Amino acid sequence: MRAAVPDGPAAMPPEGAAGVAAVAGRHADSVDREARFPVEAFAALREARLLGLMVPRDFGGGGGGLADAAAVAHALAQKCPSSGLIYAMHQIQVACLVRHGQVSAWHRGFLERLAGEQLLLASATTEAGIGGDVRSSACAVGDEPGGAFRLEKQATVISYGAQADAILVTARRSADSPPSDQVIVPVLRGQTQLEEIGGWDTLGMRGTHSVGYRLVAEAGREQILPLPYADISARTMLPVTHILWSSVWLGIATDAVARAAAFIRAEARKRPGTPPPGARRLAEATAGLQSMRGMVRGALARFEEVADDPDRLTAPGFAVAMNTLKTEAAETVLRIVGQAMLAGGLAAYRNDSPYSLCRHLRDAHSAPLMINNDRILGNTANLLLAHRDNGSLFG
Ligand SMILES: Cc1cc2nc3c(=O)[nH]c(=O)nc-3n(C[C@H](O)[C@H](O)[C@H](O)COP(=O)(O)OP(=O)(O)OC[C@H]3O[C@@H](n4cnc5c(N)ncnc54)[C@H](O)[C@@H]3O)c2cc1C
Repeated sequence: MRAAVPDGPAAMPPEGAAGVAAVAGRHADSVDREARFPVEAFAALREARLLGLMVPRDFGGGGGGLADAAAVAHALAQKCPSSGLIYAMHQIQVACLVRHGQVSAWHRGFLERLAGEQLLLASATTEAGIGGDVRSSACAVGDEPGGAFRLEKQATVISYGAQADAILVTARRSADSPPSDQVIVPVLRGQTQLEEIGGWDTLGMRGTHSVGYRLVAEAGREQILPLPYADISARTMLPVTHILWSSVWLGIATDAVARAAAFIRAEARKRPGTPPPGARRLAEATAGLQSMRGMVRGALARFEEVADDPDRLTAPGFAVAMNTLKTEAAETVLRIVGQAMLAGGLAAYRNDSPYSLCRHLRDAHSAPLMINNDRILGNTANLLLAHRDNGSLFG
């Protein structure tokens, strides 16, 4: 299992991400208006070979680490939050494969394909009747003759399911397994039927096009990741998800503050010597942004420090830190965008202004709902019954 830290010099030249983010920004309005997949941004990401960024170089990938993926998601989210979130969701799946798939021949071959063909990966954890409880499944991997399996899932939300080259699906290990005895398996587009069971006309993150599907897949059992999903979730999916999602929300907050600052500066130029009335709100938003940046960077450093140590990754203190990152970052982005909106006033409230924060506000409202903050706070509360903070400055 490889660490999440880079395996060589930075694979992603910053201008690569900046160029792709500019493309995403040019199409962000139409992506949002039409609630459509950001095809232009993802063509540019493929061209820049950024979908395989975290695949080790031995497999033909970029050899980047989690910080590189977070930087790309953050840059994209400043211009088009839906593109940033899709990139984050893709890289979460890549991280699971890179860290837990290299022990199996099928997954090693898949990693080579992923990097070579710049495959896009989606995720189906949410399920009808289960909701956002990712550690429970109703569907099961059923045995078929000849080492095959069949899987049927009522997946109420799969972002960009129709555009994905493969979907990582969680399911019970067998028809007799309890809901928490889960596996995760990548199923390829040619092995999967997707029948739409719900649309996607939402407040924000409209470009993720997260419609519901009845997913039916038939594939070989060798595609099931060997480690139980409980371990994959604790060691990789949960921390990587919370770090990459928070990077996306930080991108939204960063652009909101930048727009508010541009507005305040323009106002100040109009009336030299008189500080614009919203300047104090800009100072507040800037303070929040600085603390949010510290939160995300601290979590990244903490993950990289323990990335190769299963005992430390599964310790209650680490889970508390990662859960707390998610719930705090989700609330902080909303607070910062709200403060930036107060700084910009009507100019920020208008849809047709260069200082508009309407999409920022709509997109940011998805943050506390993506695995509901109340659900995560409930999990954290349970962990705190067993875990005592050691009171140290450096954790
Ligand atoms: C933009 C976006 C993209 C997404 N993409 C995907 C995707 O690609 N794949 C995927 O599988 N899922 C995806 N999801 C779904 C997401 O991961 C969550 O599963 C989903 O948001 C949970 O939906 P829910 O609120 O209906 O369900 P639940 O989390 O089950 O919550 C339902 C209600 O119960 C309450 N609640 C639940 N648990 C508790 C608790 N313990 N304590 C107190 N109250 C509780 C909540 O307040 C909520 O009102 C996406 C969601 C969004 C917003």
